[in-house]
Amino acid sequence: MTARATLAAVQGPVEDLDAPLFDPVAFRLTEEQAALAAKARALGQAVFGPRAARYDRDATFPTENYRDLHAAGLLGICIPKAQGGLGADYQTYSIVAAEIGRYCGATALTWNMHVCSTLWSGPLADDLDMDPATRAEHERRRAVHYRRILDEGAVYSQPFSEGGAAAAGAAAFETQARPVPGGWIVNGKKIFASLAGHADYYGVLCTEIGDDGKASRRNTLYLAVPAKAEGVSVVGDWDPLGMRGTVSRTLLFKDVFVEEDAALMPRGVYYQAATRWPHMFLTLSPTYMGLAQAAYDFTVKYLRGEVPGTPPVKRRMYPTKQIAVAEMRIKLEQAKALWFQAITEARANPSKEQVLRAYAAQYTVMETANDIARLAIRTCGGQSMLKALPLERIYRDSRCGSLMLPWTAELCLDRIGREALYEPGETDG
Ligand SMILES: Cc1cc2nc3c(=O)[nH]c(=O)nc-3n(C[C@H](O)[C@H](O)[C@H](O)COP(=O)(O)OP(=O)(O)OC[C@H]3O[C@@H](n4cnc5c(N)ncnc54)[C@H](O)[C@@H]3O)c2cc1C
Repeated sequence: MTARATLAAVQGPVEDLDAPLFDPVAFRLTEEQAALAAKARALGQAVFGPRAARYDRDATFPTENYRDLHAAGLLGICIPKAQGGLGADYQTYSIVAAEIGRYCGATALTWNMHVCSTLWSGPLADDLDMDPATRAEHERRRAVHYRRILDEGAVYSQPFSEGGAAAAGAAAFETQARPVPGGWIVNGKKIFASLAGHADYYGVLCTEIGDDGKASRRNTLYLAVPAKAEGVSVVGDWDPLGMRGTVSRTLLFKDVFVEEDAALMPRGVYYQAATRWPHMFLTLSPTYMGLAQAAYDFTVKYLRGEVPGTPPVKRRMYPTKQIAVAEMRIKLEQAKALWFQAITEARANPSKEQVLRAYAAQYTVMETANDIARLAIRTCGGQSMLKALPLERIYRDSRCGSLMLPWTAELCLDRIGREALYEPGETDG
């Protein structure tokens, strides 16, 4: 589909547009939120859904989808309106991203990496402390990134995993930035770097090393390293179980010079964000909220004999099917309600209760998406897992959610238990 055809799909009525994941009246969405979610849903249903099987089969990046996201203005969803973007806040972005996740998990997940470069440097950074001069400099710098995204369709990624303890927040990043006149020299390695070889800028988290040579999490820098910079390379293959279109290969940085204006956040601000704005790590969940809805929707259509490409055989009359659908619906409603509450509470300095709820929401969405997909396959039966249909891809893609650091399902359990039982600084000694 051409960009022109895509725009037509988004602007005009899409035949049989799916119902919203979050009903605007029931969830009290603003008109703007409802309109943006509808735009994403139309693009997802009419354009991304039909392409998803190919990216999955070939483990190739959804480049065409990114052109369409640019044409629809969605690359700049969280860029402030004053700077030409759509000005979406955290909650709005999350709702829109979940709609895209229903149709192509890999597109939604990689788009999240891109959007975070604008969300974290934009509305989130606006909530953090900076002296006036630092803030003015930050605003000047982020405007450079925003213009590239809006004018040129530049795509940003977010590689922070390294295979050590840093991505879980337990140690300083081993990728290092050494200050030099005009910028930094970056050296290091990032694994599972979604969009590797396809982003224009890699939003690398690394540790600035001063004269004492010591590495501290407080000195984390968030730098947009140009993909074409000398010393940047992409290595290794990519043939995973799910989320195959993310192309999350390994990135190497060997003596890469990065100029000062590449800083997506000023010194010390990433550390401040990670400690004061914890919902920043919940942004991987909208994709999986969408996948959960997709697995449920597929099952209802399939049992009603309405999935295109399958014989119009109804299976809904069997009590076992009805009970399974009821179980799936309950899990879906539980995940949606908790998740919607958590994305609504995202802010600087959330209360302990809000942070515990955010972990619980992440855990619930990541585990429930795969659980619903599992039940969907068991309930629909063998024909439903054929590759001609989307369910088996949803099943594989949804398996990946619990593995995403820093808030893996395991780490969410770990944190909820510890933080519920201990106040900061408390010990048993
Ligand atoms: C499809 C996909 C796309 C991805 N895209 C990106 C990306 O764009 N950018 C990016 O930075 N990363 C990305 N990741 C990586 C992801 O966030 C994890 O870093 C990766 O899955 C870690 O794998 P690992 O086996 O090396 O984890 P390990 O570090 O070996 O951890 C294994 C498990 O142990 C647990 N664990 C880890 N640390 C601790 C600890 N301190 N205490 C207790 N338990 C712990 C966690 O539950 C974790 O799941 C992606 C992953 C997938 C699957």
